[in-house]
Amino acid sequence: NEKLFANIISHSKEYGYIFQSSEIYDGLSAVYDYGQLGAQLKKNIRDFWWKSMTQLHDNIVGIDAAIFMHPTTWKASGHVDNFSDPMIDNKDSKKRYRVDHLIEAHAETLSDAESAALIAKMEQLLAADDFVGIKQLIEENKIKCSVSGTANWTDVRQFNLMFSTEFGAVSSDNPEDNIVYLRPETAQGIFVNFLNVQKSGRMKIPFGIAQTGKAFRNEIVARQFIFRMREFEQMEMQFFVRPGTELDWYAKWKETRLQWHKDLGLPAEKLRFHDHIKLAHYANAAVDIEFEFPFGWKELEGIHSRTDYDLRRHQEFSKKKMQYFDNDLNAEGKPFGNYIPYVVETSVGLDRLFLTVLSNSYHEEEVPTAEEGKTETRTVLRLPVKIAPIKLAVFPLTKKDGLPEIAGQLMDECRPHFHCFYEEKDTIGKRYRRQDAIGTPFCVTVDHQTKEDNTVTIRNRDTLQQERIPLSAVKQFILNTVA
Ligand code: ATP
Repeated sequence: NEKLFANIISHSKEYGYIFQSSEIYDGLSAVYDYGQLGAQLKKNIRDFWWKSMTQLHDNIVGIDAAIFMHPTTWKASGHVDNFSDPMIDNKDSKKRYRVDHLIEAHAETLSDAESAALIAKMEQLLAADDFVGIKQLIEENKIKCSVSGTANWTDVRQFNLMFSTEFGAVSSDNPEDNIVYLRPETAQGIFVNFLNVQKSGRMKIPFGIAQTGKAFRNEIVARQFIFRMREFEQMEMQFFVRPGTELDWYAKWKETRLQWHKDLGLPAEKLRFHDHIKLAHYANAAVDIEFEFPFGWKELEGIHSRTDYDLRRHQEFSKKKMQYFDNDLNAEGKPFGNYIPYVVETSVGLDRLFLTVLSNSYHEEEVPTAEEGKTETRTVLRLPVKIAPIKLAVFPLTKKDGLPEIAGQLMDECRPHFHCFYEEKDTIGKRYRRQDAIGTPFCVTVDHQTKEDNTVTIRNRDTLQQERIPLSAVKQFILNTVA
C-alpha cells in the first residue's frame, strides 16, 4: 500500500493534479498547490457539496465570511486557550511528535491485541489530559524515535495550532493589539453572522448556514500528502435547532452525510462511523465519518452536536444578544420562546475528500491491446463522471481529410455545456491512455466513416467498450451521464 500511495502522489504531479507549493525552492512543508486538473476536480467536489447543502435544502443558505476575524472571536470560541495538540520532543534527534501519532505509529508494529490495548490506554489518558501518564506510557512501551532509535523524551506539552500575524500598519503600545489569527476553522465566521443571516434571510429554526473556505493550522507534523496540511479548505454547515432537539438532528445529519459520500461515488465498505471518546469542550455528541485510505482508516468528516456553546460565548464576549424568538412555540400552544439555538455541525475537509476520491479512483490494471492475446498495463482514474475535470475528449483519427474540422464543430457544440479536450497528435491508443490517466470518462473518435454516415465511436473509460452513435447525439449522451 505504501508503494500504491507513492504512485498516487507521483501520478497526481505528473498529470497536473497536485504540485508541492513553491517547488522550485524545495517546497514548503504541508502546503500544496492544485494544478490545472486538480483545481477543476476540487471545484467540482466543492460544487457538489454546495449544491447538496444550499440548492437542495430550502432551509440552508450559504455565506462567504472573511478569513481575518476580530481577535476576540478566538477567545470566545475557546481556540486561544484550547486549540492545541499534546506534543513531545525527542532530545537526541530534536524531532517533534504529536503524541497520538507517535503512539499510533508504534501500535502498528504490534500484534492486533497489543495494538488495540495500547490505543485504548492512550485514548483514556488523553481524554483525562493525563500528560504524566502519557509520558509513562511512551517510556514503558519503549517507544523509540524512528530516526535515531533513541528513547530520550521531554515532558508532554500542549502546542497551540493557530497561526497569527500582524494586522494594519498602526503601532500600538501593546503589540498584542495588532495580532490577528488566520482562522483555524470556518465555523466561527458562521456563528458571528448568525443573527445577520437569520434576520436578513427571515430564517426560521431549524435552519442551516453553509460555507466553504480556507483554514490554517500549524500542524505539529505534516503527514500523508494532502491528508494533513497547514493550509487547507473546509466545507462546513452549522444547523441551528431548538434546544432539546439537537440529538435527533445529530442522528439525522449523521445519516445524511454518510449517504452524501456514497452519492459522491465512494464505496459503502470503505466508509464507517467512529464515535469520539473524548468530546471537545463544546460538544455533547461527536462522530467521525472515516474512510479507508491506502494508509488505513482515518477521519474524513466530523459531525458534532455543539450545543449552544459558541453562540452563548459570543453573546458573553460581544454583549450582543444571540437569541432567537420562536413564534412557532406559541402556535403549538407552548409559551413564547426566546432562546439561544443549539447547533449541529457537519465539517469536512475538501482536500482530504479530494485525496479520498483520488485514492479510490486510482487503478493500475492489465487491459487487452489491439493485438490478439496481448495485454498492457494502464493507469486509470475511475473518477465519477459528475466530478471528472474533463468529461469528453474529441479525437480526429487523422490530421487531414476534413476530420479535424468535424471534430472542431463537435467541440464547439459541446464546450458551452461541459469541459472537453481536443487532441490530434499521436496514435489513438496513446491518446486513450492519456485520457485514462487523467480520468476522462468518454473519448469520441471522428474517422472516415463519419464523413459517410455522420456517426462516431464513443469509448467508455471503465468498460473499454466502443460503440458507434450519431455525431448529433454525442452532446446529449454526455449530458445524460453527468446528471
Ligand atoms: P485531526 O484529528 O485529524 O487533526 P480534527 O478532528 O482536528 O482532525 P476537525 O477540527 O473536526 O478535525 O476538522 C474537520 C475536518 O477538517 C476534518 O474532518 C478534516 O477533513 C479537515 N481537516 C482538519 N485538519 C486538517 C488538515 N490539517 N489538513 C487537511 N484537512 C484537515
